[in-house]
Amino acid sequence: MAPRYSITALRPPESALGSDRVFRYLVESVRDYAIFLLDPKGHVATWNPGAERIKQYTAGEIIGKHFSIFYPTADRDNGKPEMELTVATQTGRFEDEGWRLRKDGTRFWANVIIIRVNDEDGNQIGFGKITRDLTDRRLAEQRLRLLIESVEDYAIYSLDTNGNITSWNLGAERIKGYTANEIIGRHFSQFYTREDVAAGLPEHALEIASREGHYEREGWRVRKDGSKFWSNVVVTAIRDDEGSLVGFSKVTRDITDRKNLIDQLNQHARELELQIAEREQTNLELEAFSYSVSHDLRAPLRAIGGFSDALKEDYAEKLDQTGIGYVNEIIAAAGRMNQLVQDLLDYSRLGRAALGLQTVNVSQAVAKSLQQLGEDPASIAIEIDTRYAVLAHEATLVQVISNLISNAIKFHEKNAEPQVRIWGAVQPGGNTMRLSVRDNGIGIAAQHHERIFQVFERLHDRESFPGTGIGLAIVKRAIHRMDGAYGLESAVGQGSTFWIELPLYGRK
Ligand code: ADP
Repeated sequence: MAPRYSITALRPPESALGSDRVFRYLVESVRDYAIFLLDPKGHVATWNPGAERIKQYTAGEIIGKHFSIFYPTADRDNGKPEMELTVATQTGRFEDEGWRLRKDGTRFWANVIIIRVNDEDGNQIGFGKITRDLTDRRLAEQRLRLLIESVEDYAIYSLDTNGNITSWNLGAERIKGYTANEIIGRHFSQFYTREDVAAGLPEHALEIASREGHYEREGWRVRKDGSKFWSNVVVTAIRDDEGSLVGFSKVTRDITDRKNLIDQLNQHARELELQIAEREQTNLELEAFSYSVSHDLRAPLRAIGGFSDALKEDYAEKLDQTGIGYVNEIIAAAGRMNQLVQDLLDYSRLGRAALGLQTVNVSQAVAKSLQQLGEDPASIAIEIDTRYAVLAHEATLVQVISNLISNAIKFHEKNAEPQVRIWGAVQPGGNTMRLSVRDNGIGIAAQHHERIFQVFERLHDRESFPGTGIGLAIVKRAIHRMDGAYGLESAVGQGSTFWIELPLYGRK
């Protein structure tokens, strides 16, 4: 179809490709844009394949028709098509986005550019019109807008470059209490506390966002009703294709619940720390108290023991069997009490005295323990490399080993013969040495493994197995003071293996 008008005004600068024919060929091969000419009154004068594709008319159907045919009735009634031509005539150019109609009456979202076309003498001979179908983009934008608008958990809104609110979603209404009508056009500093506004925080947020692209903070914000909420705020700068700032988007979350929870946890942690400090203080006082009581009990105890021994020896003939039985009970009780006082003193001394650590030969420490217990080393299987030494406090280590061996010998069925095995082994890595004491005794159920290391925790009555319940507490505290580790493997009826680990100090 030959155009009735020259399109000189649209022609690119002079070049080999600058002829009308080539240029027309270019326009006629474009399918993504409707490019056509209007006469000065607005009648369609040319038509390209893009126009046919987008608007559905063939050239034969449309040429000569007025271009207002592409406008919805309301626009036509308002004189929009004529207004656009007037603007283009006056300014040379008009650009618009809006709904336009196809031949079948369906709408499409169009980007429209109308250009005044002049002849070579500068007289207007018509208009060039370029129309793009942006329906898909428009729908995608609409979907996104609907999505944002319907989000309830986040306040999502936009600001112009001055910080005035330009859009408002459902979440913003829910969280801040304002409807879109009430708040659009107002400044976002409205949501800040008076102190934050005075401190210039709103301006600061926009300044950082425009400089760095992004600003994120937590802080108190104020709802319409004046109540406050703790918020997480993200401000993002919005820039156009040229990079100029056009506004900001703002996403605010109400995280008051989380903040309260964290505050509560912190408060709880502080209270716990305080309680622990108080308890430690009380423990120290209690230990000091029990130490001095135990200490002071020793003298009267010695008197009870001494006088009951004297009674038994010097007055035996004057007492009958019952009397002697009572005296024996007193002697035994005084002995037990003496042991208890001694253990308590050992235990509390371990908590106070500084332990000077030195190298201690392990097999010698075991030998000393056996000697202390009055046990024959031959009755116990001992496998310890005599060269191994650990870093320890010798007397304390000897006491620990004694406690383990005496338990190993003590806790067995009445008619069974105790079998005890002691062995030492360097641990993988070569830095520590583990000393294990194994017995064939009654064993300990797993649920008691931790408990028995506490003071006075015993699993049996004194009639079945005598003891004070302090031996393993001494082991625990002593090993702790010597930077070691301890533990056990045991099950009921299967014997027990108690072990301690200390830093290896060489082979002496
Ligand atoms: P004591 O031996 O004076 O009772 P301990 O503190 O040494 O106190 O031990 C605490 C408890 O652990 C014992 O009363 C006993 O019930 C249990 N126990 C300790 N060693 C053994 C063992 N080798 N076999 C079985 N039970 C044990």
